[in-house]
Amino acid sequence: MHENLITVTRSSMPDFEEYCEEIRPLWESRFLTNMGEKHLQLEEDLKQYLHTPNITLFTNGHLALENILTAMDLHGEIITTPFTFASTTHAIVRCGCTPVFCDIDPKDYTIDVSKIEALITDRTVAIVPVHVYGNLCDVEAIEVLAKKHHLKVIYDAAHTFGVTKNGVSSANFGDAAMFSFHATKVFHTIEGGAVSYQDPSLRTKLNDLKNFGIHGPESVPDVGGNAKMNEFCAAMGICNLRHLDEEIEKRKTVYRQYCSRLSAVPGIQLNTIRPGIRFNYAYFPVVFDGYRYTRDEVFDLLAAQNILARKYFYPLTSAFDCYKGRPGFDPSATPVARRIADHVLCLPIYADLPEAVVDRICDSILR
Ligand SMILES: *Cc1c(COP(=O)(O)O)cnc(C)c1O
Repeated sequence: MHENLITVTRSSMPDFEEYCEEIRPLWESRFLTNMGEKHLQLEEDLKQYLHTPNITLFTNGHLALENILTAMDLHGEIITTPFTFASTTHAIVRCGCTPVFCDIDPKDYTIDVSKIEALITDRTVAIVPVHVYGNLCDVEAIEVLAKKHHLKVIYDAAHTFGVTKNGVSSANFGDAAMFSFHATKVFHTIEGGAVSYQDPSLRTKLNDLKNFGIHGPESVPDVGGNAKMNEFCAAMGICNLRHLDEEIEKRKTVYRQYCSRLSAVPGIQLNTIRPGIRFNYAYFPVVFDGYRYTRDEVFDLLAAQNILARKYFYPLTSAFDCYKGRPGFDPSATPVARRIADHVLCLPIYADLPEAVVDRICDSILR
């Protein structure tokens, strides 16, 4: 990789010695995977950090989502949004369900709750909303709708690790919430993910499903896959979690610097953090709409200086080649999502991003 390249994110790392200490017992036990000591400890640490009663770890966030949809035995239509990472839509499709795309809110980019009810049919079984860029969905309104129509709610909470609303963790909204612990996320286990859920009876099912559906040596009640987090990844998570609050504080400083330079500029829309939210500063999305440069021009002018911003999320999942011609996959049916996808750019943000680089990025944009 280029030495002076500034990427959109950079993985946080614990001290090398701290990680070595954490994995030392694995050399003695030779117990490297299959829900060992580190795996169990990380689950406990996460329950504490997220203030949530039930957590199951997975190889990654995507498989956490696929497995919770499978464990809930969902078959039919699932209302979701196309302004998300490939994973959300693919998980619904790969589980044999049909995504029904709802448009998004133009300010916080989460599902537009006022448009959900019109999409509910007698085949609708669930809502899979996405907490976008750390912004929580309108969780109260979604809960009311879901109760009224007897729908499950499974949040894609990949962007909201550590986010709370009036002290309530994003792990505790809906029937379940999926988290990604990918290396690019605020909290990571190299690769990894988890699901939190309200119904404790799902625990056994999820643990079986991530281990080939095997329940006991001679008992295989489910057609499962392999999605177990290994001990080395769990150890990375244990270490990173110890330092997460400091990391979030450093991100906040970067976030504020961007805000002080870029807010109140006509044609530039920044993310607004709602009152009562403890934010995690995971992303710095900027919508360039009516600005003197288009999103693509800003992307190019930063790239020319070795600064890699990211067109995230672009394209909409409903515009993916793999879904071409499928009924219901129509980007023009969600015009707000399409407009945001065409105009949004995520600027680099990570704990150790130097102040001078943020200034350089802002200078280039404002020049
Ligand atoms: C990262 C991410 C995922 C997938 O998580 P993995 O751990 O990479 O499998 C899903 N949804 C969203 C919104 C994400 O950002």
